[in-house]
Amino acid sequence: MKFVSLSSGSSGNCYYIETQNTKLLVDAGISTKRIKNELAKLQVDIAQIDAVCITHEHVDHVYGIDVLSRKYQIPIYANVLTAKRIFQNGYMKDTDKMFCFQKPFSVKDIQISSFEIWHDAVCPVGYTIEDGQTSLSILTDSGCVTEKMYEAIKNSKTVLLESNHDIQMLKTGPYPYMTKQRIMSEVGHLSNNDAAEVAVRLAENGVQNIIFGHVSSTNNSYDLVYENAVGHMQSRKIDVDKDVVLGVVQKNVISAPYIF
Ligand SMILES: [Zn+2]
Ligand SMILES: [Zn+2]
Repeated sequence: MKFVSLSSGSSGNCYYIETQNTKLLVDAGISTKRIKNELAKLQVDIAQIDAVCITHEHVDHVYGIDVLSRKYQIPIYANVLTAKRIFQNGYMKDTDKMFCFQKPFSVKDIQISSFEIWHDAVCPVGYTIEDGQTSLSILTDSGCVTEKMYEAIKNSKTVLLESNHDIQMLKTGPYPYMTKQRIMSEVGHLSNNDAAEVAVRLAENGVQNIIFGHVSSTNNSYDLVYENAVGHMQSRKIDVDKDVVLGVVQKNVISAPYIF
């Protein structure tokens, strides 16, 4: 399986997953033109994308889906409540291209299951994606990681995990009071320390690659995310690069490919 982040953060999220037979996007929160250009760097034609799975209806996750579904006829997968909200908000027009799932489903050789996350959207989810050989979990936009969420991601070989903000930078930063409260709440976004604690548990459980994403450009830095996670790993005697590989994906920058 190959994983590439085309962009990650509140200005737009889009992740590319490739197996032997299948090409998938999770979220499409950047323009179709940008998705097309980034995929071209991977020698992938946008028309080859088999499906897009949506985590929740916030614009940084759905911005490109209308054009993807109409111009390129790509099926969009979302749970019923999220799909309904997408149409209500006018993010997509062609109902024929929306596929609502209620239980795990397959796209060619990929099996996809969703799990509930805690975020201020109508029915937000994370995904675990399997191809029979290996698996990937994506968990961003959640104010906390419950045991149920942890159970859903702990057996994946690679996990993309939100590490949104440094709590001190958020508290002393420029955001309005109510925005800070929203981000810090259980239905907001995950802090570096919370993410690092989860990452330690994942590493101890044998997860090989932990990729941090949805990093705030105002209340965080990529170096801080990485250093903080390394610190947590070292304090638990986990050897970074040997026991676990850590990475950080950025906004508006295509990541290196993770192959696992
Ligand atoms: Zn988001
Ligand atoms: Zn969101």
